[in-house]
Amino acid sequence: MTVGLIDDKARIFFEVPEGELRFGDGDLDRWAEHLAWCYRLLDLDECKTIAVQDFGTSPLAYLGSALLMPTLEAGIAERLDAKVICLDASPERVVLTPEVIRQVEPDLLIVRDEIFGLLLDGAKRAGVDLAALDGLKILVAIGAKPMPMPSGKWRRLLHVESTLLLAPECASCGHFHLRDGFYALTDGTIVNLLLDSAQPCVLPRISVAEDRVCELGPNDLLFTLANPGETVPS
Ligand SMILES: [Zn+2]
Repeated sequence: MTVGLIDDKARIFFEVPEGELRFGDGDLDRWAEHLAWCYRLLDLDECKTIAVQDFGTSPLAYLGSALLMPTLEAGIAERLDAKVICLDASPERVVLTPEVIRQVEPDLLIVRDEIFGLLLDGAKRAGVDLAALDGLKILVAIGAKPMPMPSGKWRRLLHVESTLLLAPECASCGHFHLRDGFYALTDGTIVNLLLDSAQPCVLPRISVAEDRVCELGPNDLLFTLANPGETVPS
C-alpha cells in the first residue's frame, strides 16, 4: 500500500495483480459498506470475532477496521461491531493460524482459496479440525480461476482484486449477487461502475440466472458458477 497526495487530497494506492487500485476521499468507506453488505447476504453479519487470513492488498483485510487503514472512517469492525484480526496469507504464517484460532476462538474465519487446503491440513496436523469446530463459520474467497477445494459447507465470496469484485453467494437464494449500482455485466465482462482505476474482468464460468429475483437485492444480477473447479476430499 502507498499513501499519496493528489490535488491536496489523500489517495491510497494498492498494487494488485494486473493493475493498481486508487482510492480517494470516501472511496474506502463505500467499499467497506459494500463488504458489510456482502457479509449480511452471507448471513455472517452476526459474527463478532472475525479472523481474516489474506494478504494486505486484499480488501477483505484492509477494509477490516479503521484502525488499520488511513482515510477509512468505518471498516467492518466498526460497521458490524466486531473484532477483526488480520492474519497474513503467506505459508509461514498459515502454519501459525491453528494456534491463533485455538486461543482467540473466532466465530468467523475468512480465507482465500489458494491457501485453504494448506490451512485445513496444517490445522489437522496441529490437532484442530476447523471443519468440526462448533461455532466457527468459514468463508472462502474464490478468485477468477477455479481452485481445487476441499469438500465441505463453506460459504463463498467471489473476489477479483483488480476489479475490486466482491460478489457474495447469498444465504437466502443460493445465487451469487452482482450488486446493482456497483457492477455491470456486459458481453461476459464485469465492470466496476464506481472505481475508475478498477480493471474489467472476464469470468467465463458464470451462468446468469435471468429468471430469478432475490428480495435481498431485487435489482441485482444473480448467477451461479458453471464450473467451480475440481473438488477434492478434505
Ligand atoms: Zn439472494
